[in-house]
Amino acid sequence: THFGFETVEESKKASRVGAVFSSVAKNYDTMNDLMSFYIHRLWKDRFVRSINPGIRQALSSSSSAHTNSPGSPTAPEAQRILDIAGGTGDIAVRLLDHATLINNDQHTNVIISDINPEMLAEGRKRMAQTAYANTGRISYLEANAEDLSAIESSSIDLYTVAFGIRNFTSIPNTLREAYRVLKPGGVFACLEFSKVGNPLLNTVYKRWSFGAIPLIGQLVAGDRDSYQYLVESIERFPGQREFEGLIKGAGFMVPRETGNDMDNEEEGRGWENLTGGVACIHKGVKP
Ligand code: SAM
Repeated sequence: THFGFETVEESKKASRVGAVFSSVAKNYDTMNDLMSFYIHRLWKDRFVRSINPGIRQALSSSSSAHTNSPGSPTAPEAQRILDIAGGTGDIAVRLLDHATLINNDQHTNVIISDINPEMLAEGRKRMAQTAYANTGRISYLEANAEDLSAIESSSIDLYTVAFGIRNFTSIPNTLREAYRVLKPGGVFACLEFSKVGNPLLNTVYKRWSFGAIPLIGQLVAGDRDSYQYLVESIERFPGQREFEGLIKGAGFMVPRETGNDMDNEEEGRGWENLTGGVACIHKGVKP
C-alpha cells in the first residue's frame, strides 16, 4: 500500500517461505506421502494426464523401419515446458514420462524453476537417477515466479505450477509473468490446495490438517512451525471461484471442464476438484 505496510508484510512472507522450504527440503517427499496418505501422487498423476504434455508423434511406419529404430518419432516437434516451484522434480518427471510414453515424444523438455536452491539441489539429485539424466531434456533455473526475466516473452508452450502458488507473495504478479512468458495458445496449469465443499469432509479434513500435520512435522522432520505455516497458507489461499477470477483477470481464457468423473455441480466450471476440493486443477489459455 501507500504506507509501505504490505511491503514489510511481503518481505516477511518471502523470507518465511524461504526458511520453510530450506527446512523441509530433505524430508519433503516423505512428508508429502505421510501428510496426504500418498494421495498427492494420484493428484499429480491426474494433473499431468489432464494436461496431456508432449506432441503426439506417429510411430515410424514399417517402410522406414530400416532407418528409424522402432518407436522413434518421425517429426522432432517438441514443447518447451516451464515447471514453476518445481522443487524436487516431482511434476517434471511425470510431464516427461507422459510426453515420452503416452505421446511418443522424445524431444519435449522441461525447465525446472524454483526460488530455493536447496529444493533445486534435491531435484537435481533425484533427476540424476531417472532416464532423463543426460538427455538435455531438463534444465534448472533458480528464479522467483514473480520475476522470470531470465525467460523471454512468448517462448513457453506449457507453464505448470503444483502446490507452489499459494506460497508466492503476489498471485497477480505471478499470473502476469506466466502470461508474459507463454506463447499465444500456451497453457497455464495449476494444481493447488483449495476449498472443500462438503461440510462433513471439510470437518474431517480440517481436523487432520490443523491437528495432525504440525504434529507429524514435529515428529518426523523435527519442525512443527514450518508445517503449521504450510497448513495456514492453505487456509489463506483463495477458493476455486476467486482464483478462477484472478486467472481471467490476468488475461487468460478459462476452458470449461467437462467429464464423466465430475458431479453435476462441478460440470461446466473452469476448474476440476480433486478429493472433493482438497486440491484443485485450474487452467488458462493465453489467447
Ligand atoms: N511442485 C513441487 C511438488 O508439487 O511437489 C514442489 C512444491 S513445494 C510445496 C513449493 C515450492 O515452491 C518450494 O520448492 C519453494 O521453494 C517454491 N517457492 C516458494 N516461493 C516461490 C517463489 N516466489 N517463486 C518460485 N518458487 C517458489
